[in-house]
Amino acid sequence: MTRRLFFLLCLLPSAASAAPPPDRTVAVTFDDLPFAAVPTEDDGYLETMTTRLLHSLQAEHVPAVGFVNESKLARDGTPDAVRIGLLRTWLQAGFELGNHTYSHPSLNRIPLAAFEADLLQGETVTRPLMQREGKTLRWFRHPFLHQGTTPEVRAAFRDFLTTHGYIVAP
Ligand SMILES: [Zn+2]
Repeated sequence: MTRRLFFLLCLLPSAASAAPPPDRTVAVTFDDLPFAAVPTEDDGYLETMTTRLLHSLQAEHVPAVGFVNESKLARDGTPDAVRIGLLRTWLQAGFELGNHTYSHPSLNRIPLAAFEADLLQGETVTRPLMQREGKTLRWFRHPFLHQGTTPEVRAAFRDFLTTHGYIVAP
């Protein structure tokens, strides 16, 4: 669902290999940023909810990645400063952002070239925003987790991601 906030728990290898077991780290990821289905366009509400969420994650020391659809940054056709500010809040709180494409298309339903163009459009704001915070955009998640319907498309898209420095978030 494009309009539903959901999160996935991902088990990633721990960086602290010398630590005693359990040798795993839990990372929480959030899709469809800067916000998913919220019953309001109220900026204050969105900022409050974002801040509360991030404070909870900080309090529990939960590493988190938020996956962005930059199409949602636009209000009346132009990028909205408040919505971009929500993304900056994530970064300044110590979390990472990932690319979830611009408009949340399915790779199973549109041509590869169109999908790749949508992905690149989806980093227009996020990549420089992260660079200004000293971070590198590296995570990608497929909308609907759709990875293409043929081995050729899947392989070509994997190469595209590698070329552009992306890692697929499991
Ligand atoms: Zn999504």
